[in-house]
Amino acid sequence: LLFTILLSSNFLWSQESNVQEIEINLKVSELLSKMTLEEKVGQMTQMTVTNFEEKGKPGVFDMAKLKEAIQNYHIGSMLNVPNPGAPTIQRWKEVITIINNETNKTRLKIPVLYGIDAIHGSSYTAGATLFPQQIGIAATFNTAIAKRGSEISAYETRASSIPWVFSPDLDLPRNPAWSRMWESFGEDAYLSSQMGAAMVEGFEGNDVGSKYHVASCMKHFIGYGSTTTGKDRTPSIIPERVLRQFDLTIYETAIQAGAKSIMISSGEINGTPVHASKHLITDILKTELGFQGVVVTDWKDIIYLYTRHKVAENNRDAVRISVMAGIDMSMVPEDYSFYTDLLDLVTKGEVPMSRIDDAVSRILKMKFEVNLFQNNIADLKDYPKFGSQEFIDVAYNAAAESITLLKNSNAILPLDKSEKILVTGPTANSMKYLNGGWSYNWQGENSDSYAADKFTILEAIQNKVGKANALYTEGANLEKEDDAAIQKAVELAKDASKIILCLGEKNYTETPGDISNLYLSSSQIKLALALSKLNKPIILVLNEGRPRLISDFEDKMSAVIQCYLPGNEGARALADILYGDVNPSGRLPYNYPRYPNSLEKYNRKYTESLGDEEQNNDAQYQRSYSPQFEFGTGLSYTTFEYSNLTIDKSKINNTESVTITVEVKNTGKLTGKESVLLYLSDKVASITPEVKTLKRFEKISLKPGDSKIVTFILNQKDLQFVNNDLKWISEKGTFKIQISDLTKEFLLQ
Ligand code: BGC
Repeated sequence: LLFTILLSSNFLWSQESNVQEIEINLKVSELLSKMTLEEKVGQMTQMTVTNFEEKGKPGVFDMAKLKEAIQNYHIGSMLNVPNPGAPTIQRWKEVITIINNETNKTRLKIPVLYGIDAIHGSSYTAGATLFPQQIGIAATFNTAIAKRGSEISAYETRASSIPWVFSPDLDLPRNPAWSRMWESFGEDAYLSSQMGAAMVEGFEGNDVGSKYHVASCMKHFIGYGSTTTGKDRTPSIIPERVLRQFDLTIYETAIQAGAKSIMISSGEINGTPVHASKHLITDILKTELGFQGVVVTDWKDIIYLYTRHKVAENNRDAVRISVMAGIDMSMVPEDYSFYTDLLDLVTKGEVPMSRIDDAVSRILKMKFEVNLFQNNIADLKDYPKFGSQEFIDVAYNAAAESITLLKNSNAILPLDKSEKILVTGPTANSMKYLNGGWSYNWQGENSDSYAADKFTILEAIQNKVGKANALYTEGANLEKEDDAAIQKAVELAKDASKIILCLGEKNYTETPGDISNLYLSSSQIKLALALSKLNKPIILVLNEGRPRLISDFEDKMSAVIQCYLPGNEGARALADILYGDVNPSGRLPYNYPRYPNSLEKYNRKYTESLGDEEQNNDAQYQRSYSPQFEFGTGLSYTTFEYSNLTIDKSKINNTESVTITVEVKNTGKLTGKESVLLYLSDKVASITPEVKTLKRFEKISLKPGDSKIVTFILNQKDLQFVNNDLKWISEKGTFKIQISDLTKEFLLQ
């Protein structure tokens, strides 16, 4: 009975959403039929009208520019806030009201669609809940956390009167030097696709038009995270076969989850800027994947087609190429070049009206879907939970599940509160390093944006054990070498029994975050080496957005903890892990490299790692695969034992699915969470198979002595790969399942 009720309520719900869709489509065509060409082209234009000159006044507008943009150019969308910028929800309400007042004076009164970078929470609103950055969310291996976090982010963004967020980031970084690695879910396409879909569901809910949900924007389609040099916005070389097998699946899953919009990558793949690629945008995204939402450019990227990429002679040429490639909205965002040139192109017949109508219909549809015509100013009474303890607890829990214990020699952790320790290192006492970029402003460089009740690592430790038991000195500057500072740390360490050494990176994002050396800065390496001479246990805490090499001193560290960029509540979670109040359960979402020129992924090919099994045992090859820590590494203070790996059938045909079970037991003395990871390998295939590929994961919690049977079902798509004809195919033969160190095989016949 319950099943029937569920089924019919689901049916009613989908009926209802079909009716809603038909209604929206009718409204869109009615409105479209009333619009002039100028009004249509204006809808396709996204501007920023905030006055970047007016420093120190978050959310102040250039009123003259605002009026001009709306009255003379019919602008359909706006984005961003001025530096140093993080308006309160009250100020946001005023800002959107000012914009509304202008659109209300226009002929058709179409409201402006405001979009914002809500990256790890509603990160452009003062007082918003800030979660771990996406790389940390990936490390939780818990999709419920990703979903709940973006639900809260949606709530707090709507509380800011904004209905559209430029998130999630679905980039697949192939070079860990990339300055936006932390904005992604790491190196695995399956993990990224599950996390991305969960975030889309959290943002959009069942009704994206409700006052608690927002439209999401997948970004940056496609291949953006794969620059060969590791530098931001430099070229990628990605064969389409590889692009389809990995990168595209992440977008496909998010589209199935309902994602309303997509932002195009600023990069170029195989010599074609994505903004100029009809093949990628129209043929693959819109036609093959059937994406019905809005395609928006990234910042100034049409202009860059002629100023940087040099595939267009001038702006007019660039506008024609990109609109014909399938762009619906241009984030211009500072002048009217897109508007003026597109108008001219349509008038002269170089861009057909049908293309404009397609783009504008998509934009208007999204405006109706987010309920912009009725619900675009927040009634602040509706948002009592903004910045509430309930939300803070979710952010704390996300941080606690993300922090990853990579090494714990002689069970040095957890620490005892009664011992005197030294806390040192340049990231130990900083809120901005804990949060990283996109935190109250673009680069996240504003230390004074953080409320007094948000704690740095040092403060969280001192709150826990008292100031007398947690000595502190900075020890090193992040960038400049300073021998006196090191000496001071060495002296102070003599009074302590153990050292918590906090190293990492300054806040950054995008091109300003480019590096030419994957090692941690030399000032920090010197500090680590100097402290290690004291022969006291050192607990290394890494506060970083990408794996910075630590091979110069890792062997001298007793424990290593990766805390990524854990956000506003991250330090409390870290302190609780250091002292054993929380049992760590994060796992690395990427390979942590040991050498700057050995950047293999965990799902490498056999020839990259012939340490494996019956393969060639050439010592040379063995050495070539030796990451400092492998993808999936993550220790706990308890122990888990895996047993009874079963596969329901030893032989299947190519329509059947495979059910796999494994028993996991907590054999230690503490309650703990464990991410159970299932890897698959295709033993022989016509395209060289990966050594292993993550296919499923599930996070469970077990009390000491308890055990649980975890069940996974693999279907045909899981056994397939993309062949040289760009088709997903499976080939007969043996497949191996691996969970922890248990393996089992089955035959596809
Ligand atoms: C970034 C995007 C961001 C956009 C709007 C660009 O520079 O690449 O990720 O959404 O700016 O701020």
